[in-house]
Amino acid sequence: MARRLRAIIFGRQGAGKGTQSARLSDHYGALHISTGDMLRAAVAEGTEFGRKADEYMRGGNLVPDDVMIGIVRERLGKADAIDQGFLLDGFPRTLAQAEALLEITGDDGLDAVLDLDVPLDVVTARMKGRGRADDTDEAISRRLELYEKETSPVLQWFDGRGKLVQVDGVGSEPEVFDRIVSAIDARLP
Ligand code: AMP
Repeated sequence: MARRLRAIIFGRQGAGKGTQSARLSDHYGALHISTGDMLRAAVAEGTEFGRKADEYMRGGNLVPDDVMIGIVRERLGKADAIDQGFLLDGFPRTLAQAEALLEITGDDGLDAVLDLDVPLDVVTARMKGRGRADDTDEAISRRLELYEKETSPVLQWFDGRGKLVQVDGVGSEPEVFDRIVSAIDARLP
């Protein structure tokens, strides 16, 4: 039986996380669960929740932990995520989210925690060309700032638990993809 993957992928905005996650999800047959995509879908639906989320996102700010934890808890509890495995993209972004995730998955519930590493100057240059609705210059710098402030400690936290795998994210898309696959395969039993 094919081994289902349960992993997290970290990386600054512009590190290529979304593109690589889509390819990885195909490769391993695991669900690509992107909290950013889920929030953008809610915004597009124009629900009350979507309108609130939109305000945080436009400012480059984080949606509150309790809301995000609730969304991810519900998503990971669905049959498809349990059967197919998942690649979490964009969550956890804070220590509170990381602790909640470990409580949801259990201590052995993750095969790999990947950090797609691309230096700040490289992502900043890439971001300018992306043109998403929530990509104003201010929102971009705010998100990069929050990544260092809130999300870097999460990486250190996983590192301290022996879970973190650094992958060099500079290179062509296929090169980086091969690096990530090697890193994951080395961790799968
Ligand atoms: P992303 O597509 O992952 O860059 O997410 C886009 C925006 O959605 C972020 O800038 C946040 O405003 C919000 N967001 C996504 N995931 C989370 C999360 N785990 N915690 C808080 N806010 C989030």
